[in-house]
Amino acid sequence: MITVDICPFCGNEHTVLNHAGPGTYAVFCLECRAVGPIHDGMIPAINAWNKATRLELLDFEIPATT
Ligand SMILES: [Zn+2]
Repeated sequence: MITVDICPFCGNEHTVLNHAGPGTYAVFCLECRAVGPIHDGMIPAINAWNKATRLELLDFEIPATT
């Protein structure tokens, strides 16, 4: 069982795996809308998010919100 780590930006637990595009997935934070690395599989997307969390991530994109 793979679990999605809390958001490295806001510490929120409301992180979800969702489609980032056709056939691609990424983890999203519902609180601050951070988006994790996009992968073509659910497991790789989660692993990338969790790894980035540990590395305090540098490559994350935060979509602009108005
Ligand atoms: Zn967040």
